[in-house]
Amino acid sequence: MTVVEYQTRGPIAVITMNRPEYRNAQNSAMTYALDRAFYQAVSDDAVSVIVLAGAGDHFSAGHDIGTPERDVDQSFDRKAVLWWDHVGKEGADLRYAREMEVYLGMCRRWREIPKPTIAMVQGACIAGGLMLAWICDLIVASEDAFFSDPVLRMGIPGVEYFAHPWMVGPRFAKEMLFTGDRFTAQRAYEVGMVSRVVPRPSLQDAGFELAERIAKMPRFGLALAKRAVNLCEDQMGMRSGMDTVFGLHHLAHAHNDATTTDSLAGMDARSMKAAS
Ligand code: ZN
Repeated sequence: MTVVEYQTRGPIAVITMNRPEYRNAQNSAMTYALDRAFYQAVSDDAVSVIVLAGAGDHFSAGHDIGTPERDVDQSFDRKAVLWWDHVGKEGADLRYAREMEVYLGMCRRWREIPKPTIAMVQGACIAGGLMLAWICDLIVASEDAFFSDPVLRMGIPGVEYFAHPWMVGPRFAKEMLFTGDRFTAQRAYEVGMVSRVVPRPSLQDAGFELAERIAKMPRFGLALAKRAVNLCEDQMGMRSGMDTVFGLHHLAHAHNDATTTDSLAGMDARSMKAAS
């Protein structure tokens, strides 16, 4: 079984995370498979729009912090940033190298994909799952979708790709971080994070209908429009804000490492769920 599936539907590339037994928890094998799939979609001139989906009942429960295929100790052929491999390093040196590459770096790389991307979200979209939805240009969610960034329970001030204030506004960013609570697709729509909310059985139809309409627009014009909005988003401080907060994120990891059993404050998927 492949961890990421790639299909085309006319001018639409459909990239599907495929670890449904683990609610599409993202290990590095999945991250690099996603990167290959995005690269294929960008390179194929017949593809105009990219849809990112999750197989099964959930979009993504976040980063893999406890499945049997967790692969944080493995080396991969690095793509996102020119930095040394994290394997064989210690402490912050290890964590900074790894998270710059597979989390912040990869998400930034995918945000810059020159073709429109649409996340099709059902069920859980948690922490690292939010990062994947946020790097997409549009988000179509089903009514049963729920979102959260609960990493403050580990003492960490938000996930590595710190887009919160730009995705949901500063007020709700604080509420979602301070409480770690789940919020509904409807609430996500109200704060401007989600483009459409549709009944669960209509999710695919709604996502593909939107993708097909966009696919009729001129390809280069779409790329320029996307870049225009992304550049303005960065002028609104997103890129520099994210760089600043990445330092705070790693301060929290280092603090956890110095005062608890590990950089995640001894938490895993089970204890995170129990704390919710
Ligand atoms: Zn981290």
